[in-house]
Amino acid sequence: MSRKVASIRGMNDILPTQTPLWQWLEARVTDVLAGYGYSEIRMPIVEPTELFKRSIGEVTDIVEKEMYTFDDRNGDSITLRPEGTAGCVRACEQHGLLYNQVQRLWYRGPMFRYERPQAGRYRQFHQIGVESFGMSGPDIDAEMILMTARLWRQLGLADKVRLELNTLGLAEDRAAYRDALVAWLRAREERLDDDSRRRLERNPLRILDSKHPDTRALLADAPALADYLGDEARSHFEGLRALLDAAGIPYVINPSLVRGLDYYGKTVFEWVTDALGAQGTVCAGGRYDGLVTQLGGKPTPAVGFAMGVERLILLLEQQPPELRPDAELYIVSSDAGAALRLAEALRDTLPGQRIRCHCGGGSFKSQMKKADQSGARYALILGETELAEGLVTVKPLRQDGEQQQVRQAEVGAYLATLDHDTQIG
Ligand code: ATP
Ligand code: MG
Repeated sequence: MSRKVASIRGMNDILPTQTPLWQWLEARVTDVLAGYGYSEIRMPIVEPTELFKRSIGEVTDIVEKEMYTFDDRNGDSITLRPEGTAGCVRACEQHGLLYNQVQRLWYRGPMFRYERPQAGRYRQFHQIGVESFGMSGPDIDAEMILMTARLWRQLGLADKVRLELNTLGLAEDRAAYRDALVAWLRAREERLDDDSRRRLERNPLRILDSKHPDTRALLADAPALADYLGDEARSHFEGLRALLDAAGIPYVINPSLVRGLDYYGKTVFEWVTDALGAQGTVCAGGRYDGLVTQLGGKPTPAVGFAMGVERLILLLEQQPPELRPDAELYIVSSDAGAALRLAEALRDTLPGQRIRCHCGGGSFKSQMKKADQSGARYALILGETELAEGLVTVKPLRQDGEQQQVRQAEVGAYLATLDHDTQIG
């Protein structure tokens, strides 16, 4: 017997038992996004490696150690996208969507990072990302946060997540702060972990993001970025806070929230949960006014965020919503032709119903077993007697109630009168 091939570590199949919850989540997300007037954009999964180096930053975890980078047959370096913002900016620039225009965009799909696989952290994972371009005020930052808050309510997760907020200031604020931080840390270099010591030279702000306990303890007394903010960043942040306060959105200011990508400035935010252990961030984003110019475009204010779909699914699995089964009606028959005819007729009269027609023959008993396993609410039975008399037997599978014989021509109308207590998703 030949050996079976398994999937790549950290890259998961999403099985038919799991996809209904994914579809339920995605349907709610797309509804909420549509309600705010956002348009979908679809980008390739691979991009030139340079795109990510120039946007995410050379000295970040993602670019230093997490990217799937290959040479293609032509010798060009290409990378499986680790996130969507860079590709979205690239696509908008390439197609002239940014010049003198406002855009509200979203996308979804797989992202790839070579990380240590564990619960809530995978090598292929999925994000739903949202980006806006051309709006510089705190109102659009607030809109994005309101939109995510509405989404948590729609998903029944509002009491499981909290909003953390910070401002990273303008590039010049960060430059002044950077000097102060480096001087302070240099005097305490022996207390830093190895990674942070290396970053002291190349990307000192990343040290604020360190998960190392000793470094975290040391940082508690370090100079604070908040003390280096200029008027513009300060008033932007105050404006955002006032809008959130007015909308009744609670938040916590987290001064050590710096995010793992270099392109952010001014607003950064994360939605965090305590219900998933260490992988607690389910949604993260912020403002990146400098990125479009960094990638060769004209100065364009921008703000966006991305949700980790697997982490949201893990949260939803803790209190799953009631889902519509893939098959609601299951047709059992001793005559395949009659069964297919009935199924087609019902798909005409009851559009949207999920009808599975038994194929492959077999005894009445084994067909009924399949009907049961399908999760359908009703079996529609076409036995010898039914066929001879133009009838169908409608047998409830999930709930009490007698089976009924109905004329074939009337079965659609009859089914429409039955009480469906399952949520239609
Ligand atoms: P973390 O601090 O958890 O590594 P990050 O800052 O690297 O997250 P972002 O780049 O901001 O993550 O991505 C946005 C969201 O995508 C995260 O908040 C998380 O929900 C999800 N995410 C990121 N990396 C992974 C992964 N490897 N597996 C599953 N979800 C992920
Ligand atoms: Mg990460």
